Amino acid sequence: MAEDYDRIQNLADQRGIFFPAAEIHGSLAGFWDFGHTGSNIRRKIVELWRRDIVRGLGSIEMDGCIILPKQVFQASGHLKSFADPVVLCTKCKKSYRADKVVEDVLKTEIPEAMPSEKFDEMIKDNNIKCPSCKGSLGKTDKFNMMIGVTAGVVAEGYNAYLRPETCQSIFASFMKLVKTSRVSLPLPISQVGKSFRNEISPRQSLLRSREFTQMETEIFFNPKKIDECPDFDSVKDYKLKMKLLSEKDVKDMTVEEVYTKKIVSGKSIAYYLAVCQKFFEHCGIPVEKMRFRELEDDARAFYSKETWDFEVLTSTGWLELVANNYRTDYDLKSHSDVSGTDLSITEDEEKFVPHVWEISMGLDRTFYAVFESALGERDGKPLLSLPRYLAPYDAVVLPLVRKDGVDDKARGAFNLIKLDFDVKYDEKQSIGKRYLIYDELGVPLAVTIDYDSLEKNDCTIRDRDTAKQKRVQISELPEILARMKKGEDIFND
Ligand SMILES: [Zn+2]
Repeated sequence: MAEDYDRIQNLADQRGIFFPAAEIHGSLAGFWDFGHTGSNIRRKIVELWRRDIVRGLGSIEMDGCIILPKQVFQASGHLKSFADPVVLCTKCKKSYRADKVVEDVLKTEIPEAMPSEKFDEMIKDNNIKCPSCKGSLGKTDKFNMMIGVTAGVVAEGYNAYLRPETCQSIFASFMKLVKTSRVSLPLPISQVGKSFRNEISPRQSLLRSREFTQMETEIFFNPKKIDECPDFDSVKDYKLKMKLLSEKDVKDMTVEEVYTKKIVSGKSIAYYLAVCQKFFEHCGIPVEKMRFRELEDDARAFYSKETWDFEVLTSTGWLELVANNYRTDYDLKSHSDVSGTDLSITEDEEKFVPHVWEISMGLDRTFYAVFESALGERDGKPLLSLPRYLAPYDAVVLPLVRKDGVDDKARGAFNLIKLDFDVKYDEKQSIGKRYLIYDELGVPLAVTIDYDSLEKNDCTIRDRDTAKQKRVQISELPEILARMKKGEDIFND
């Protein structure tokens, strides 16, 4: 199973899909660059998110700053409690996550929120040593995971931080957005962007990195109206994959059941879970590999009243892609307290601080899960069957040879479609080799220009998934590509 993980790392490295940032300078752990193919696929996942979640929920979107003043994180609680337990080897001075060191030896899951003394006890009782030099481990400490910065000339210390999650600017700018956007509750506000966490030991490439991208939606609502949901009927029979605390296995439950059996706090919450699961179906991830895992009290973030981690089964095990959190009025209240600004809303002549339901998605992990579920084989060669709307290119244009005007003809075809579609031109190596490379990169359509094209102004189109081929006029390409993107079968007509 872990083979898939290695295959993706190899493919990523070989084709420049993603790779360590600033590799020539010896790169820092946990920072990754994306090449053209990688960034194209990511952009398309974001576009799909914007379609399904932002437009689907009627959300407004904002683009907030990465560097935010210290006060924001006083209000959010990050300065005080956003910390991981860390132990230092007294001999080689390497640092480790205390929970991971203990977990690796005891082979059991340890809650990271356990008090430091408890870690020290476990390390002593089980005689746990430094994994790399077998030296003694020191005392467990709490390490704040925010990356501090100084903005401007300041006397001492950090006056700002790189945001550890994108949602804080949504909370801090909430009132500004409400007053200027002509909106009412329930109000979803979304943001996609980079966040930063100083992970003690970044690992598994994109799955735990220090710089990552989030697609977050915070839905502000009146808690008295949690059961009001006009679009509920459109999803009520849709089946959710629920992993309840009280059950051993994942259960299929309709959205209606999840609501009426009071599995979640309200009607609109059941609806939001459906919106989340449907998005990942559209990403091409099989439903049987999904689950909403109910989190126990001590595993939830301190601000959350109810949490459903949306997880996908990958070769690395169940991977959390989304945190669905009921953040109540915690955020707006604390931002209000620290800033002295009233963040309440008046509705039906009643003044209250809105509650928040959060759909917090990780783009990097989603990218990984999409990649892994699309990666298959044909005749022993890799084939990346991405949904067409997530493919890095809509098509690749391939001249059969690089001479006799065939290349010029191919450039002409490329120019005809390059502005309205994501298209690549490639004249390197044999045509067979090129087909294999673009199958591997998930490009749904290959357009080949040959000697016949010079006379007849036509070309061969080839389907990635079936390897079927067909002869069409070059002038038809824009229409064919447009139809292909709509999901039509362009090979059977
Ligand atoms: Zn050591």
